Amino acid sequence: APADADCDVLVIGAGPGGYSAAFRAADLGLKTIMVERYPSLGGVCLNVGCIPSKALLHAAKVIDDAEFFADNGIEFGKPKIDLKKLEAWKSSVVGKLTGGLEGLAKQRKVEVVTGPAHFVDDHHVKVETADGERPISFRNVIIAAGSRPIAPPGFDLDHPRVMDSTDALKLEEVPKRMLVVGGGIIGLEMASVYHALGSEITVVELADRLMTGADPDIVKPFRKIIDKRYANIFLKTRVSALAPDESGVTVHFEGGKAPAEDRFDRVLVSVGRRPNTDLLNLEATGVRLLDNGCIAADEQMRSSVSHIFAIGDLIGQPMLAHKAVHEGKVAAEVAAGEKSAFDARVIPSVAYTDPEVAWVGVTQEQAKAEGLDVEVGSFPWAANGRSLSLGRDEGITKLIFEKGTERIVGAGIVGPNAGDLIAEAGLAIEMGADMHDIGLTIHPHPTLSETVGMAAEAAAGTLTDLY
Ligand code: FAD
Repeated sequence: APADADCDVLVIGAGPGGYSAAFRAADLGLKTIMVERYPSLGGVCLNVGCIPSKALLHAAKVIDDAEFFADNGIEFGKPKIDLKKLEAWKSSVVGKLTGGLEGLAKQRKVEVVTGPAHFVDDHHVKVETADGERPISFRNVIIAAGSRPIAPPGFDLDHPRVMDSTDALKLEEVPKRMLVVGGGIIGLEMASVYHALGSEITVVELADRLMTGADPDIVKPFRKIIDKRYANIFLKTRVSALAPDESGVTVHFEGGKAPAEDRFDRVLVSVGRRPNTDLLNLEATGVRLLDNGCIAADEQMRSSVSHIFAIGDLIGQPMLAHKAVHEGKVAAEVAAGEKSAFDARVIPSVAYTDPEVAWVGVTQEQAKAEGLDVEVGSFPWAANGRSLSLGRDEGITKLIFEKGTERIVGAGIVGPNAGDLIAEAGLAIEMGADMHDIGLTIHPHPTLSETVGMAAEAAAGTLTDLY
């Protein structure tokens, strides 16, 4: 390393991975510089991912709740949607968080440099700033450059009627008929939003099910609800061509139960994301890439070059903000000489759809495939007082325990707020809790969290009450 390097740690990218790494490094006393190509900090998550999508999903929930009460004693009238105002509110939520990050960086004396960074060699980058090119030398670098949406070849994402998730979050219009290509979390969340705003939704998915990572038992109640709300859900179906023009998009389908051709006002393409490893001139560093373009990183978040760390979406699945944050902290600690490692047993996944679908650890199917003998405890929310008082009865809490040890190894939850409830299962797995630990834990009544305790009691054979 150059003896007079500009910093101990250079962080490239200011998303959840990058800012966590930079803040932790600074807190450990390292001189830290963070480079971000955009003026707004926070990466995909804060600007065009987790946060704006959750703000809009909350708006969707308010509309859906108002509709529910129209039949149950309170009429608010038909919602009048002012897209500009709604967009401004969503942007104000984002602005509070990204502005907050600037303050946190200043407090810690993390210097923020704005502009794209490119490697010159394994100890130098140059950044194209508004004031010209700035060379920066570093002892260690933590690469957190994230990912971006992909589109199948021939899909014209630049056409205004063909959107990726970033375009969809801009709320330019509420299309009358909208097609969502890809039945994963991001596509289904945006479908929830646009359906509530008034779009007629069709979802098309290549696989034989939606949300492929989740236990089919917890996807089923979600599916039942969207079957009523959406015009069509086509599984095992490929979109073979998209032809956008001024007034709409002609879409060609192959396979499944879809028509050969149909027309939509707008199409959202949400078929996956790719790592931004091609934006950095990584060739200059000797860092090894995997076949899928991600950087190969070990449990200390080191790449094949030991002072070059990589974290977050850039190193692969699951591409989730909470994974990036934990990896960022590990990278910073290792760069500071601490004996840290990323050894999370499980990383929860949540679709913030209506109802929410959340899972952590192994599913029953995966257990079977891995030859792991398991016992299952399930609790239907139709027997949970709090759920009924929300006007909902479709939820399920399903816990998976290892036979013999009776330790929890996985959980799937579907229903309102499932994303909050899954955290308890994640903690239980990390702590090595068994079904009795969970069943004997007194959960507050009446809450949805009781369904977690009761699913454990169901597995232990001690469940007595339904309330
Ligand atoms: P990013 O957030 O992608 O940040 C990388 C940063 O690096 C970017 O700001 C980029 O501009 C910058 N950069 C790239 N190249 C350079 C360069 N050469 N020089 C300088 N800067 C560079 N995850 C969840 O956990 N929960 C959710 O609810 C959720 N919802 C999502 C909704 C949507 C619509 C999308 C698209 C994603 C969602 N995600 C969610 C995923 C989440 O946003 C990502 O997992 C997370 O942002 C990854 O963090 P990161 O730090 O690895 O990278």
